[in-house]
Amino acid sequence: MAHRVAVVVPTPAHSTVAGPLTYRSELPLASGTLVRVPLGRREVLGVVWNTDGLKDDPPAEVREKAIAASLDGIPPMTAGWMHLVTFAAGYYQRSLGEVALAALPPQLRDLQPEQLARRLKRPMQGADASAAAQGPALTEDQARVLAQVEEQPGPFLLFGVTGSGKTEVYLQAVQRMLARDAQAQALVMVPEINLTPQLQQRFVERFGEAAVVALHSGMTNPQRLKSWLAAHLGVARIVLGTRMAVFAPLPRLGLIVVDEEHDPSYKQQEGARYSARDLAVWRGKAEGAKVLLGSATPSLESWHACERGRYLRLDMPGRVGQGALPAVRLVDMNLQPKNTLFSGALLEAIRARIARGEQSLMFLNRRGYAPVLACGACEWKSDCPNCSVYRVFHKIDRTLRCHHCGQTDRVPRACPSCGNVDIAPLGRGTERLEEQLAELLADARLPDGTPVRIARMDADSTRPKGALELQLAQVHAGEVDVLVGTQMVTKGHDFRRITLVAAVNPDTALFSGDFRAPERLFSLLMQAAGRAGRDAAQAAASEMWVQTWHPRHPLFAALRQHDYPAFAADQLRERRQAGMPPFAYQALLRAEGRTQEVAQLFLATAAEAAPVLDPAQQVAVYSPVPMTVQRIANVERAQMLVESESRMALQRFLSGWQPVLQASRGKGLIRWAVDVDPIAI
Ligand code: ADP
Ligand code: ZN
Ligand code: ZN
Repeated sequence: MAHRVAVVVPTPAHSTVAGPLTYRSELPLASGTLVRVPLGRREVLGVVWNTDGLKDDPPAEVREKAIAASLDGIPPMTAGWMHLVTFAAGYYQRSLGEVALAALPPQLRDLQPEQLARRLKRPMQGADASAAAQGPALTEDQARVLAQVEEQPGPFLLFGVTGSGKTEVYLQAVQRMLARDAQAQALVMVPEINLTPQLQQRFVERFGEAAVVALHSGMTNPQRLKSWLAAHLGVARIVLGTRMAVFAPLPRLGLIVVDEEHDPSYKQQEGARYSARDLAVWRGKAEGAKVLLGSATPSLESWHACERGRYLRLDMPGRVGQGALPAVRLVDMNLQPKNTLFSGALLEAIRARIARGEQSLMFLNRRGYAPVLACGACEWKSDCPNCSVYRVFHKIDRTLRCHHCGQTDRVPRACPSCGNVDIAPLGRGTERLEEQLAELLADARLPDGTPVRIARMDADSTRPKGALELQLAQVHAGEVDVLVGTQMVTKGHDFRRITLVAAVNPDTALFSGDFRAPERLFSLLMQAAGRAGRDAAQAAASEMWVQTWHPRHPLFAALRQHDYPAFAADQLRERRQAGMPPFAYQALLRAEGRTQEVAQLFLATAAEAAPVLDPAQQVAVYSPVPMTVQRIANVERAQMLVESESRMALQRFLSGWQPVLQASRGKGLIRWAVDVDPIAI
């Protein structure tokens, strides 16, 4: 007798074969079993899905293909995992096959079943983490917070300033979970790969090497498979990873931690554009695991969820050891002499730090030497030939580089348009800031009389393998006195000797077209401020300097007081008035085409279907517009906003829209995608 099984296979995002395919199998296969099946001319990895309703012993005329192999050594995926994948695919408008297969480690696809079997033979010891090392005695705040996490169902939003001991709360929450159930598992997520080694070390110190595995895209494929198996077999107690880890198979999931929950990195920006934070909350609820979100500057969505009573807010307002937060000093650039780079007072403050042997951090969110190179005699500017942006001038290797498509040329000796030799950089990036600082501080000396050491840390300086680790180690070892960097340096790093942080030019974000820009800026500045004075002994003398042309902006007033709640209240009031998230739900339809007309035509055609799909008029469909960066790599981009006060109504609309979108594809359209709950507009 032949059995019939439904198998989810890797399908393209918008394929018409969206659901599982039916295959024949000699043996009955449990739902969740990993299999290899023929698909076209290839053999692919698939997951046996819900086989309900499929009759065994198909009639002779049904000629279904037989599965090629089942990966017997690996336990079937759990119902919880399949439920999560199904939800994510539906909610983010992608195919089940795409989401399911993307959530599995690549080597499961690539290795033959025999190779996998060999991998599995190596014994995996269940880690015993019950004998965890002792943590420090809890502060009052930590004890109160942990008691709440024990007693309440959550989800929780742990609102604590940098250095308030949030990580310690995560550690002890895991410890308590393991004390109740030694076989339980915790998922701990961080926004960026850079931050995993630090956190991993703290978890390993507490729970032992064997209990902790990492899961992120910076790992080799064999490492990833190993971690994934340890999670799936229930051997790992703690899985620590970036957003992809939200799909880790965890049969005994008891706790999910999302650190820096406000961070935009939790939103995937290609393929299935899921929010790992939102999926974590959903998954916790579905699988009965507690969810603990943590941040010093929560997302306004999470903050609002607390106000509505959907999340429970837990506050830790003070730094451990009574360390003060740095004093915030605003420099009014209107009062400075023309072309001031650093105000005199800021420069003096930096010099004083150098003379005392302390470190300073200069934050400028733009890499390269200058964002544009321009001719003084004609209109020429360093446009990218392929994109609607300027190429950035990198002085170090004398190149013009497009940060969108990568197009790179050597800097021309003279203006390519008029031959004038007088072409000059406009504006400033980290490279130039580093150079100018070196000039301004040329005579600055350390306490022992040696010259000041200035270093730069950004995506360029850390590109070579191992460079990031080396640079971080140098800062930690005190071999750098003034560090210049992009937002990369503001995140998470526990620099002990920094007592001054300066935001050199943060104003652009105040007037951005994106309504989330102020929220982003505030959290970035708070996070940057959090780098200063982490050593309690120096905290009192720590300062955060902000140079701005708009010192009376309410954002800066709140920043001065370290008053996130005031800032959030102000922003939420504006958002409520304007009917923007979290008071409305949004999706973007994006289109890319050979021409802007083609892209917009696709969007306009799609919009025509709206009245039929939404007779109750709960969903607003806006006009198609070109994207802010309209052209990248010679592809024209446009988007259209869809909005509703009801998440349900929006979801219903989007599902009904899918077939329309697939049918609206015109000539010259390259691709399209729906972004549900977009974080940048
Ligand atoms: P956050 O994650 O909120 O920035 P951490 O958990 O990293 O804060 O704590 C900041 C510093 O305080 C760390 O060096 C940590 O080891 C220390 N710390 C945290 N909790 C305690 C405690 N209860 N007693 C002593 N030191 C603590
Ligand atoms: Zn010219
Ligand atoms: Zn380009």
